[in-house]
Amino acid sequence: MRYVSTRGGVPPAGLTAALYAGPAPDGGLYVPEQLPRLELAARAEDEALPALAGRVLAPFAEGDPLAAELDSLAAEAFTFAAPLRPLRERDTFVLELFHGPTAAFKDFGARFLAACFRRLAHASPARLTVLVATSGDTGSAVGAAFHGMRGVRVVILYPDGRVSPRQAHQLGCFGDNVHALAVQGTFDDCQRLARRAFADLALRESVPLVSANSISLGRLLPQMVYYAHAALAQQRTGGAPLNFSIPTGNLGNAFACLLARASGLPIGDVLLATNANDVIREFFESGEYRPRPGRATLANAMDVGEPGNLERLRWLHPEPARAGLSAESVDDDTIRARIRDGERRHGETFDPHTACAVEALERRRRAGDARPWCVVATAYPAKFDSIVEPLVGHAVPAPPGLAAMLARAASSERLEADFDALRAWLLRD
Ligand SMILES: *Cc1c(COP(=O)(O)O)cnc(C)c1O
Repeated sequence: MRYVSTRGGVPPAGLTAALYAGPAPDGGLYVPEQLPRLELAARAEDEALPALAGRVLAPFAEGDPLAAELDSLAAEAFTFAAPLRPLRERDTFVLELFHGPTAAFKDFGARFLAACFRRLAHASPARLTVLVATSGDTGSAVGAAFHGMRGVRVVILYPDGRVSPRQAHQLGCFGDNVHALAVQGTFDDCQRLARRAFADLALRESVPLVSANSISLGRLLPQMVYYAHAALAQQRTGGAPLNFSIPTGNLGNAFACLLARASGLPIGDVLLATNANDVIREFFESGEYRPRPGRATLANAMDVGEPGNLERLRWLHPEPARAGLSAESVDDDTIRARIRDGERRHGETFDPHTACAVEALERRRRAGDARPWCVVATAYPAKFDSIVEPLVGHAVPAPPGLAAMLARAASSERLEADFDALRAWLLRD
């Protein structure tokens, strides 16, 4: 498989070259040159994620040196499950993506990307800098995945004061080769700083940079695997294809679902659930894309006003409404309401991001949609204890991995939201 830019301005690249490039050199994003036809009959009921990952990802790695490593990459990355569980309501499921070390779905992509670079870094004489902008959860997943890796340093840019206290602690708790920079601005500022760094070829001469944001194929591609797993499980029951309601910010997770569907997996409609930052819904309804500064909400990992992967979505589906795609925007009061009544109505404690997807689906149910739907649960609720606990009225204990991180000391450095400041920081040592 070769990858081309959404803007069509560069020659096709192999997977490894695309991983090193981050964004394509013409400023676009890498997408597959052609879509494979995955004809994956569901195998045994209990086919584990790593085995399925090998089958789903094989065509995407074909022809690249990483293809020979695919099984070992998958075994290293997919070390925890993605259970699909029924909720109380008929034909309604939840896909739990939060059983990894940092308790959010980003662990899947971050661990796969790190597994790729664990192999590739051997071949690079210079130290690699993994640069990542985070609205909260990406940074800790990437920090955890790359922590202690030889020949690699990780630089995390996060918006100071706009991540939850537990998220901030997680970002700063690694130390060693992982640096957390508290940017005096929004997530969009962080993303802009990272983009400028990748576009600065002189900087990249002195400081070899790789991206760990969801623009990286190394994060995007492995996320197809849990959608494949859930979709094939539903297919085995003989029911209609599963539709997915997905908490959405930068569109990395949802794009992986769309790519899985476009590659032949039995996936129905896709509903993008955003918080009050509603550029995607607006774009779907009016056809006009108006990026704007992200606003702070309770679902902070989705506080995105300029969704990076929208460019990929527009490449795949120029007319979203004809592709079974729709979007709903959910405000903070409604997020609170869905967390508050989640235990009574669904028997589940939801985090603020998952609560957006729950609400989006409820709107479809109220409109009479009785098809099988799956809510994608992107974070463990204990990650957002200060929001969730007062609403549900009891403590939500942290899972062991999260508790261990919270027990470590944490520190970060302040950085102005200014490219020269970042440039100087990166060149400093
Ligand atoms: C990152 C994140 C999202 C949004 O995912 P995108 O790929 O950016 O759309 C949703 N929920 C949680 C908990 C996240 O960490």
